[in-house]
Amino acid sequence: MIQPLVPRLAIIGAGLIGSSLARAAREKHLAGTLVVADADPAVCERVRQLGFADVMTQDAGEAADGADIVVVAVPVGASGKVAEVVGPRLKPGAILSDVGSVKGFVVEAMAPHVPAHAHLIPAHPVAGTEFSGPDAGFATLFENRWCIVTPPEGADPQAVARIVALWRAAGANVETMSAQHHDLVLAITSHVPHLIAYNIVGTAAHLEETLTSEVIKFSAGGFRDFTRIASSDPTMWRDVFLTNREAVLEMLGRFTEDLTALQRAIRYGDGDVLFEHFARTRAIRRSIIEQGQETAAPDFGRRAAEKPKHEDS
Ligand code: NAP
Repeated sequence: MIQPLVPRLAIIGAGLIGSSLARAAREKHLAGTLVVADADPAVCERVRQLGFADVMTQDAGEAADGADIVVVAVPVGASGKVAEVVGPRLKPGAILSDVGSVKGFVVEAMAPHVPAHAHLIPAHPVAGTEFSGPDAGFATLFENRWCIVTPPEGADPQAVARIVALWRAAGANVETMSAQHHDLVLAITSHVPHLIAYNIVGTAAHLEETLTSEVIKFSAGGFRDFTRIASSDPTMWRDVFLTNREAVLEMLGRFTEDLTALQRAIRYGDGDVLFEHFARTRAIRRSIIEQGQETAAPDFGRRAAEKPKHEDS
């Protein structure tokens, strides 16, 4: 019989990401035993009905008992508390990992609870949708998406290799980098764009009522895509901004400066500045499509695609 990649895999948090990893592990036979834990009894019940875990428990510590790899898939702000419970239960050689959208904070919060006989290897699958909960997950979420692994300095190479292998087996392409670099890159590619979406939808909501109904009526003109992003999970995104504060503020500063330059070009009727800028950004989208990270279909493939649209988070 072929040995599974991970004899005992535990996933803490059965939301969009945790349940997608569990489904991928189940479909691809990556785990001998798949244990899933969630603090919410209603989520536990739903996971039992959905049937993608061998063992379902409310107790994260119990889930960690005997596990070879424990993946924490809860909002970033809760990762330290989960590590506090899970850490003392890790067996020698076990790996504690996560999927959080912020990495520097996660290392600081989790590392103190990892015993010397175990390893902390954080990771972030750059894939998601605006939905949450166990019903939102699907096994192909990570297919051809990036997963960024951020091993702390001096991390055990074999432990890193096991986490890389897990994500590759789940369908992802893997890159490794430092937690600090990750947080800076994701601040501009994911965190600031979400903040802009939350802000523009909020601005529209503040407009007088007649205008707001027209905003909804004519939303296909770009606004609708912001509303999709701005419907993302409030707990998750609150935690992202609170825990990646420095990098987000740095990128937001640059964004504001560039926005002021565009505002100035509009005020003074400088079409060349606007045209050059828009031509450059169009080229960036083309290269994202060429790298297979987005569809070239009109309307973002919304009309063509049946399954939920991927998004980088
Ligand atoms: P989600 O769908 O809201 O699921 C999170 C689950 O964790 C919920 O069932 C939640 O229960 C549970 N939970 C919260 N605190 C817990 C605790 N202390 N112990 C056990 N379970 C706990 O969230 P998600 O979208 O999967 O996000 C999970 C992580 O993935 C976050 O760190 C996020 O940054 C990262 N991530 C998200 C995306 C994305 O697009 N959504 C993409 C990549 C990475 P309750 O419902 O009771 O709170």
